[in-house]
Amino acid sequence: MLLLRNAHVYAPRALGLRSLLLGGGRVLWMGAPHELTELPLALRAAAEVLDLDGGRLIPGLIDAHVHLTGGGGEAGFRTRVPPLSLTRFTRAGITSVVGLLGTDDVTRGPRELLACVYALREEGLNAWCYTGGYHVPPATLTGTVAGDLTFIEPMLGVGEVAISDHRSSQPTCEELLRLGSVAHVAGLMTGKAGIVHLHLGDGARGLELVRRALAASELPARVFHPTHVNRRRALFDEALDLARRGTTVDLTAFPVAPGEDAYSAAEAMLRYAASGAPAERVTISSDAGGALPCFDADGHVSHMEVGSAGALLSTLLELVDRGMPLDQALAPFTSNPARLLRLGGKGEIAVGSGADLVGLSATGAAQTVIVRGLVHVQDGQCIRRGAFEGDEGAAHAQ
Ligand SMILES: [Zn+2]
Repeated sequence: MLLLRNAHVYAPRALGLRSLLLGGGRVLWMGAPHELTELPLALRAAAEVLDLDGGRLIPGLIDAHVHLTGGGGEAGFRTRVPPLSLTRFTRAGITSVVGLLGTDDVTRGPRELLACVYALREEGLNAWCYTGGYHVPPATLTGTVAGDLTFIEPMLGVGEVAISDHRSSQPTCEELLRLGSVAHVAGLMTGKAGIVHLHLGDGARGLELVRRALAASELPARVFHPTHVNRRRALFDEALDLARRGTTVDLTAFPVAPGEDAYSAAEAMLRYAASGAPAERVTISSDAGGALPCFDADGHVSHMEVGSAGALLSTLLELVDRGMPLDQALAPFTSNPARLLRLGGKGEIAVGSGADLVGLSATGAAQTVIVRGLVHVQDGQCIRRGAFEGDEGAAHAQ
């Protein structure tokens, strides 16, 4: 058991100074420091104590769009990004990840992705994934999306299915409806998210296919979860409209160059909040491990970067720097993805919730990171590492 003392808890709601007793991977007790005497003395004596000296304690971040296997491959086999290791996430304050496949769902597949999920779980992280990838019909493990979602526990939905992108399979509205219905029904049967996570490209069609699919069916708007919606400014406006109709939209924390027709995730989030769209209908993810290629008019890659897990925490800090209260800024990284993905006990700090916690330093760095009650990062140093991460690997993690 671990006793955390003197933490300023943001649950994400600001709760003030609290002490917390963690055990069995959960928060067993939480109270004001003077209420510690409520706990039996033997319990207090048995617990290891970590004093946070009044520092801010937030729920571990949930990154719902990560290329765990490594993404890329759009400019030759040598541009396949290597798999991501444990400390890439933990040192960035991320305690839960959802992995997926993108453009390359041929040399990589659901087996490899699922193996990455199981490996990260063995190393102590909370991990899930989507079945499929950019293309329709989706690459699956059991032969059907319905089979994967029903029988493969970590698979929460299907994605990232590409639309409005030259790399997509150019899916029709009927194909999208079929995927939406399969995901929705599997979600009902299993209690899992049952969503279609949609990659949005730069195409002028934007979210038109999603609007048509919703208008032509009885599917609830929550079934579709479009991502990268801040990559074009007009696309972001379409996303605001969809969020008002009940779809949760996902912002990507990718780098944005000055003058680019895109919003950074922080800028988009500030605009989202100012628009009055429902506060619970927005999430932010990193696209870590994914290649961020820029294409010329012929569809050739002109240059390529790789998404970084650290972009999530830096976006959170930028939001706070720009005046958004921490409790409000936390929702798209914690409680909102937990609600959409139906991850009970995640994305919040409460008695009975998962003990996935991040203690922030005065400058906002992930000083203490606890996943399922175990300390992974202490005093800013990774004390647990992945199987093939030496000291050097951790030092170079983003
Ligand atoms: Zn994508």
